[in-house]
Amino acid sequence: MNSFIGKTALVTGASRGIGRAIALRLAAQGAALAINYNGSKDRAEAVAEEIRATGGRAVVLQADVADPAAVQAMFARFFECYQRLDILVNNAGITRDALLIGMKQEEFQAVIDTNLAGSYYCMQLAAKKMIHQRSGRIINISSYSGVHGNAGQVNYAASKAGVIGMTKAAARELGGRGITVNAIAPGFIETDMTAALSEKSKQAILSGIPMKRIGAAEEVAAAAVFLAGDDAAYITGQVIAVDGGLSI
Ligand code: NAD
Repeated sequence: MNSFIGKTALVTGASRGIGRAIALRLAAQGAALAINYNGSKDRAEAVAEEIRATGGRAVVLQADVADPAAVQAMFARFFECYQRLDILVNNAGITRDALLIGMKQEEFQAVIDTNLAGSYYCMQLAAKKMIHQRSGRIINISSYSGVHGNAGQVNYAASKAGVIGMTKAAARELGGRGITVNAIAPGFIETDMTAALSEKSKQAILSGIPMKRIGAAEEVAAAAVFLAGDDAAYITGQVIAVDGGLSI
């Protein structure tokens, strides 16, 4: 098992769902955590408490990742708490689903601003520190939708495809500095994001998944922790699907 003792990690959107699962798992393996949240302070504090209760170290950092000034302030606070940044997980994400012909500009822009620009703001500030350290791991949470597209998600698919392009470009730029940059493309994972889907939509999705079940946040976290660890030292610029075979 990878040990993250002596390492630090910042996970965006970590108050619930996949981000929470990644933060808990990194902490369980020894990393000192920063739990980013936008609106859910209580839930973020609860994640930090859960980590502290088992002897781990965690701080909560509020920031809307779509706001570059807020991200800058979050990183400044991060470096008041921790001297180094070993692992960045860009997990914060939103959906504003609508069919193309009915999609409002605000729905398109909000998703791009959070999912794509937000990951860029965080990656840039993390990379500056990691270049000095000559080491680091950046893990971007993309989506099946970003690789294959999904009806009703022109905005979301564009943002998540953008995340993959950004991942590959940054991997090429940063590889020589000992920094790896990878993406995870989850399929259909049981979280608040997918809870809103109708039973009919869920059944339709399930019929296309070879493993015939919805994934768990912990199963995405397992891939993230692998990419963050020493076992993945020579893996960069990759997109790992965690989707029960949906993308085969
Ligand atoms: P979720 O809605 O439970 O969690 C998303 C988190 O991001 C929340 O904590 C939310 O508060 C936070 N967030 C949203 N906007 C933010 C902002 N502007 N600034 C800071 N935090 C913000 O959903 P989830 O399923 O856990 O999603 C996590 C990631 O996984 C997202 O990037 C999502 O697109 C991706 N993903 C999810 C699925 C799935 O099936 N659940 C599939 C593919 C990809």
